[in-house]
Amino acid sequence: MNNSIQLKRDTLKSNYSCAGHYDLVIIGAGLSGLACGLMWLKNISGMKTLIIEKNSYPGGYSTAYEKGGYVFETTQLFPDIIDILNFLKIDLPLKQYEKNFMRRLVVDGDHVEEYRIPAGAENFTAYLAEKFPGDAEKIKALMAYSVDLFKQVRKLKANATLIDNLGTVFKAPKVIANLNQTYSGLLDKFGITNKKLREVMETFTSFSGVPSDHASAILATGAMLSSMTRCYRPYGFFDEYPAKLAQKFQSLGGEILFNAEVEKIEIRNGAVAGVVIKGVNTLVQAEKIITTIDPMVAMRKMVGDELLPEKYVKQLEKTIMSPSSVNVALGLDDKIDMTKLDLDYPYNVVSTGLGTAEKLFKAFLAGNHGFSKECFHAAVICPSLTTGAKNTITIRSTPWAMNGWKELREKDYEKYRIEKEKWADFLIDIAEKYFIPDLKKHIVVKDIATPATYARYSGSPTGSIYDIASLVTQFGPKRIPMKTPIQNLYQPKFAHGLYGTMMGAVQVVDLMLKRKFNNGNSLFVPKPQVKTNGN
Ligand SMILES: Cc1cc2nc3c(=O)[nH]c(=O)nc-3n(C[C@H](O)[C@H](O)[C@H](O)COP(=O)(O)OP(=O)(O)OC[C@H]3O[C@@H](n4cnc5c(N)ncnc54)[C@H](O)[C@@H]3O)c2cc1C
Repeated sequence: MNNSIQLKRDTLKSNYSCAGHYDLVIIGAGLSGLACGLMWLKNISGMKTLIIEKNSYPGGYSTAYEKGGYVFETTQLFPDIIDILNFLKIDLPLKQYEKNFMRRLVVDGDHVEEYRIPAGAENFTAYLAEKFPGDAEKIKALMAYSVDLFKQVRKLKANATLIDNLGTVFKAPKVIANLNQTYSGLLDKFGITNKKLREVMETFTSFSGVPSDHASAILATGAMLSSMTRCYRPYGFFDEYPAKLAQKFQSLGGEILFNAEVEKIEIRNGAVAGVVIKGVNTLVQAEKIITTIDPMVAMRKMVGDELLPEKYVKQLEKTIMSPSSVNVALGLDDKIDMTKLDLDYPYNVVSTGLGTAEKLFKAFLAGNHGFSKECFHAAVICPSLTTGAKNTITIRSTPWAMNGWKELREKDYEKYRIEKEKWADFLIDIAEKYFIPDLKKHIVVKDIATPATYARYSGSPTGSIYDIASLVTQFGPKRIPMKTPIQNLYQPKFAHGLYGTMMGAVQVVDLMLKRKFNNGNSLFVPKPQVKTNGN
């Protein structure tokens, strides 16, 4: 067992040269910012490139931290990004979940329905067909359609032109047919009305706190198939991933400035001129800027509504950011044998029955939360089963709105503490009841994150954890485009999650390089002939 704590995130240092003028400035050293910087420099050497980060280490939401001798992680898994890691020459030892994808419990009063969902679309189809023999044909038809739909998504172009869109009609008719389709609409289309079966299927949208009657069918299908077919996490702690990206970026000549908060994007004659860092009066000049932070902050505050077209501001006003979360990270003593608890799945999910995600999301939209003993959705994750470090678990719940958490934290910390302890106890009770008997007896360290924590950490005022919400009303062409109305200002916001950060980076760098990097494809297509600077 490896008990030593080696956080890679703390090994990175600023290497800012104060050059004053940069070809590219990137705001944020989360995975989006790091991937953008690295892909840019892999394609074009010699460009002065700077990433500005307000925290003292890279990674943004994807990180690990130490408390009381335990290492906790924020993120837990991602779908296949091996080709991108290979292209970037990032050597990250990964564990692939080849057998099990999810342990799923659905609670109905005293009755608990339990599923052990296997990895792989074919295995999943066979499993469901066996569990729900009366619906077997419908399941097979839905899954075959989903696989085909996902294949067609791969044919799409990012930042599509009119000609691309005309081509899509022929190359990806299922995508066109589903552009306005919700995931629940897709289930209806295949006659999936069995309540229990729907509960299982709808798990794939409630991951991100969005109910199936609001979630884009295309995005939900993509998330389901990509994560269940090839699902990974690092063997080490999660901070290793951004640390390696940052290290590589610096080795290619990229500069990172930590502990520096951008407060303004300077615009002159409709184009970017540079950024202003809080507490520093001089302008860091930039030819191009990529912002990877909350779009409401970047565009509405740092640029300002007055410099943006009215139509764009209206689109921003209407955009719903994804919900926030309450998370409890627990360090457990060594008297508990985690290997005996059947928890080594990417996800162990427990919720109340059908309609739960809708109720929780409705409460979130009203600026509140809908969690109670009769209505909940939580995931239990056990990173130490992979890392081999001291026993840890994370209990994650979403969707939560900010709902005064930030104000409470700032104005009355004691009340804030009591409130967060209350909800931590609520989640611990759930984890103990359904997954880990006597859990409370084994708790040594507890760390609770609320929407206020996420807001502080990421800079997103709502503490949104998955960017722009994956609603059908703001998907595809209806999403805020990467190319902003300000010349040379880009905003890669592909979709939520770690896979999304990589694809967002691919798309934006390809856009900036006039499709010379990825030929306009929306997903990464490895090309051995891509000319890199050899690193
Ligand atoms: C608890 C949790 C669990 C998650 N689990 C998963 C998971 O298992 N799998 C998955 O795929 N996704 C997961 N996600 C989502 C995933 O982490 C994010 O989608 C992804 O990390 C976003 O990366 P990003 O770089 O776009 O944004 P961020 O990670 O938010 O990075 C933005 C960076 O910009 C910096 N910044 C903000 N404002 C400024 C400023 N003014 N000046 C300078 N710097 C600034 C921030 O400090 C931050 O480092 C999870 C998210 C959370 C919160």
